[in-house]
This record gives sequence, structure tokens and C-alpha cells, in this order.
Amino acid sequence: MSARETRRVRHELKFRTLTVASIQDLTPAYRRVVLIGDDLEGFVSLGFDDHVKIFPVAEGRAPVLPTIGPDGPVFPEPRPVARDYTPRAHDPAGRTLTLDFVVGHGGPATEWAMAAKVGSILGVGGPRGSFIVPTAFSDHVLIGDETALPAIARRLEELPGDVRVHVMVEVEDAGQTLSFDSAAEVTVTWAVRNGAPRGRTETLLGALDAALAGVERSDAYVWIAAESAVAKALRARVLDLGFSPKSMKAAGYWRLGGVGAHDVIEN
Ligand SMILES: Cc1cc2nc3c(=O)[nH]c(=O)nc-3n(C[C@H](O)[C@H](O)[C@H](O)COP(=O)(O)OP(=O)(O)OC[C@H]3O[C@@H](n4cnc5c(N)ncnc54)[C@H](O)[C@@H]3O)c2cc1C
Repeated sequence: MSARETRRVRHELKFRTLTVASIQDLTPAYRRVVLIGDDLEGFVSLGFDDHVKIFPVAEGRAPVLPTIGPDGPVFPEPRPVARDYTPRAHDPAGRTLTLDFVVGHGGPATEWAMAAKVGSILGVGGPRGSFIVPTAFSDHVLIGDETALPAIARRLEELPGDVRVHVMVEVEDAGQTLSFDSAAEVTVTWAVRNGAPRGRTETLLGALDAALAGVERSDAYVWIAAESAVAKALRARVLDLGFSPKSMKAAGYWRLGGVGAHDVIEN
């Protein structure tokens, strides 16, 4: 297998009931929730853009989670609301799982995060698998909106010192940026909305060409996650700029006007 070949790893599917251990607002738009529980025994997340399904319920109610039957998961009726979130960090020894929530729109997941208190309960399923992107590429391009920040931050933490990383993230304004830990050589471009609505193509697309101007195309891996139409437009532009579709992954992490979307963008 080549040092630049991506691969998928499957994990045994488990549903877990976890308790909120702490909550921290990293920016006005971004809330970190640390979950704890013995149910995290055996939790595995190998890929920076893995996702778990969370099952948010109203504060004070117990989540009714799917069970695992002989043919896979069996969902209770009515089917519980589920949304995708990135395992931002996992501490096997402390039995904790950290999730970062974009807030500020209405939806069961964001509302759960805003109402959560220490001791609140959250059902979590997965990850069912991991997509492993080798770190060997000389250049890594990571592009997204706030929903992509957990994966981007995680990737930066795992990349080694001898690679270059070109990060571009859309945020509300210059006061809502985050700092990253990385051994790699990192350049960050913050594309700011400054009052424009979330989920429009202009902000990231407008900053893209300049952010990628000097990036070496020949050995780069490009990763994109944002609102679906935005991710599609970004992928098309990145291809126009000469990056290879073979070393690229683009995903819609949410859909303007839709609920709970996860779109693989391939054309
Ligand atoms: C693989 C994967 C990993 C993800 N990881 C994370 C993560 O770690 N952190 C995170 O915050 N999100 C993450 N997301 C995105 C998250 O799943 C969606 O934003 C989801 O729709 C939120 O659910 P909700 O119940 O809050 O809103 P929904 O009920 O899904 O939507 C309600 C309304 O809000 C709008 N909406 C949804 N998300 C946003 C948004 N971000 N900004 C503005 N409007 C929005 C919808 O268009 C809809 O009109 C991830 C998505 C995927 C597919």
C-alpha cells in the first residue's frame, strides 16, 4: 500500500449514554461540551473527520436509543432525532468525549447544547468507521465553515512537523477565531462573514484563490467541509485551480433550509 493511499476502517457500532461533565463557550458561536461515562469503554475514533450520531432530547428527558439486533441497529418508534458531530477529543483513561457545537441557529442539536448543564444526558452512536488520510502528503489544505473546525483542529494536532498546512475557515468576525495546536507549518486564513448570513458561497469562495495562491499542487491533499452547496462550489473551484480530484475529499456538513444533512460531494 502506498504512503498516500486513503483507507476506511470499520468499527463495531455501539450506542452510549453519556453525561455532561463540563461546558465551555469558546466563542459566542461555539460551545464545547465534554461528556463522560463508563459507556465510553471501547470507543474508537481513528480519523480526524469521523462522526458520531448524537440523539438530542429535551432537558430532563431520557434518550431512547437504538439497540443492536442481528441485522444491525434497531430504531425505536418514533425514530429519535439524530445529528452528526465530530469527536473533537477522546480520553480513554478519563472516559471522556469532547464535542464542539456551532450554535446560533435553531435545531434540536444546537438547542440541546444551549440548554445542556453539567449532569445532562446525551445518547451517542458510533463512529461506525474511520476514513484515514495519510499524513505523508507535503501539503494539506483544510477548508470549511465553523462546523468543520473540530475536524480541522483535530487534523492539525495529528499532522507531523515536516508538512505544510493551509487552513481556511469561515467565521463571523475577527473576534471569533480559535487558536490551533500543531507541529506542522501552518498558515491560517480566516474568511469573515461580517454580518452576512451563514451558508452562502461568497465568503469562502471569495477568499479561496488568494489563500491557495502559493500552494504546491503536486503532493497536496485537499479536505473541504461546509454547507452542502458551498462545499460543492469550493470543490469545483479547487479543481479549477489545478488540485487533483484523487487527493480530495469534500462533504456537505449541513444544508441551508434542510435538517441533519451529510452530503458526499463528488461532482
Ligand atoms: C460528518 C459531520 C460532522 C459534523 N461535525 C460537526 C461538529 O463537530 N460540530 C458542529 O457544530 N456541527 C457539525 N456538523 C454539522 C451538524 O451536524 C449540522 O449543523 C446539523 O444540521 C446541526 O443540527 P441541528 O439540530 O442544530 O440543526 P438542524 O435541525 O439540522 O437544522 C435546523 C436549521 O438550522 C440550519 N443549520 C444547521 N446547521 C447550521 C449551521 N452550522 N449554521 C447555520 N444554520 C444551520 C438548517 O439549515 C436548518 O434550517 C457535522 C456534520 C457532519 C455531516
